[in-house]
Amino acid sequence: MSDAVALKAIRIRMIKLADLIPGALDQAELHWLAMPNRHWVLLSRRRAAMIVNRVRMLAFLFAVLTPLWSIVDLVVFPFPLWFWLAMARIFASVMFASLLLYRPNGELADAYQAMALLFAVPTVFFITSYVLLGHYHLSAISAAIASGYAFLPFVLVAGFSIFPLTLLENIVFASPVLMAEGAAGWMRWSGMDWPSFAGAFWLLVLIMGVSALAGISQLAFMVALVRQSIYDPLTGVLSRGSGEEMLDLQLALASRSNAPLTVVLIDIDHFKQVNDRFGHDAGDRVLKQFAHGFKTALRRGDILIRWGGEEFLLLMSNVGVFEATRALQRVREGGMGKRPDGSPLTASIGLAERISDGCDEWRSLVKAADTRMYAAKQRGRDCVVAAG
Ligand code: GH3
Ligand code: MG
Ligand code: MG
Repeated sequence: MSDAVALKAIRIRMIKLADLIPGALDQAELHWLAMPNRHWVLLSRRRAAMIVNRVRMLAFLFAVLTPLWSIVDLVVFPFPLWFWLAMARIFASVMFASLLLYRPNGELADAYQAMALLFAVPTVFFITSYVLLGHYHLSAISAAIASGYAFLPFVLVAGFSIFPLTLLENIVFASPVLMAEGAAGWMRWSGMDWPSFAGAFWLLVLIMGVSALAGISQLAFMVALVRQSIYDPLTGVLSRGSGEEMLDLQLALASRSNAPLTVVLIDIDHFKQVNDRFGHDAGDRVLKQFAHGFKTALRRGDILIRWGGEEFLLLMSNVGVFEATRALQRVREGGMGKRPDGSPLTASIGLAERISDGCDEWRSLVKAADTRMYAAKQRGRDCVVAAG
């Protein structure tokens, strides 16, 4: 079998596999399950918020449960041991409680940090308790409780299953836990029971695999849901809600680097007539064609949003008024689609720009563009109004 044929067979199998995942991801999205670097901005932001929320939930649970277990230690362990364990528990609990300071802000870097801390605390606690317990020869019930401490890495690795992580992130986050387990083995190197250590390590890797699978399938589900909520189902461009999020984000970026940012409001002229004369379905088809034509005529970085009904908002970052007007002129000259009777479709267009309009809040920028779009209607439609 040639390489090309083998590759094709693999690709077909990948597509079939993708169909099994809830919400059926397409091929590009399948890669997102492995690596986080090419996710949609809006997906990353929602994922970051979800991770932080789950960190907070677990941190709260751990902050309460960790010190409570001291009661059990107090009953079964001799004096200095339970005392030092209780100190370690109180310290861990304070660290967990401090994680509640993280708020979901859509930044993936913050989410990673919160998660790393959440798992670092019990990992350090595991090593500490391991060293403390190593100094004692315990028997009966106290030995049983002490061996329970060895289960901590398993609990940790299983805990990863509640996070919507990519394969790479799962590996990066679980590795320190595996290393901690390895370090614990290294500390009792001399009296090591090799077969049971190897068995436990293998079990840990297996649980890690299952957790990763659970996390990845959560991510797949999330991608499908986010895709549905990000895009307008009729036209395939961004929907209003995610468009507003994008405006907010882009304006913050533009302000920070003092770059131009142009917002364009486009309202199709006499669209109601299309519906009235040819029916709603014909109107839908016209809208779809209009959005498609507009999108293909634009640059890759330009963002088209269905702002409502037959009104679209175009977001052009790093583009000033002059350049934006020229781009729109080009689109208009190329034609913006046809009505069902073959006559050309036209639109009234209003422009506003961050620097020249002195707006650092997206709502006021959109309002300025809207006023100018209305002025374009007043001037007889089928034109662009760029300044007051
Ligand atoms: P103007 O030039 O002043 O903008 O006139 P217009 O007819 O385009 O504006 P108007 O706001 O009066 O009408 C907009 C119409 O768009 C009304 C509504 O029925 C239609 N519309 C809004 N959303 C959809 C949609 O999803 N599908 C279809 N087919 N029509 C829609
Ligand atoms: Mg309208
Ligand atoms: Mg209209």
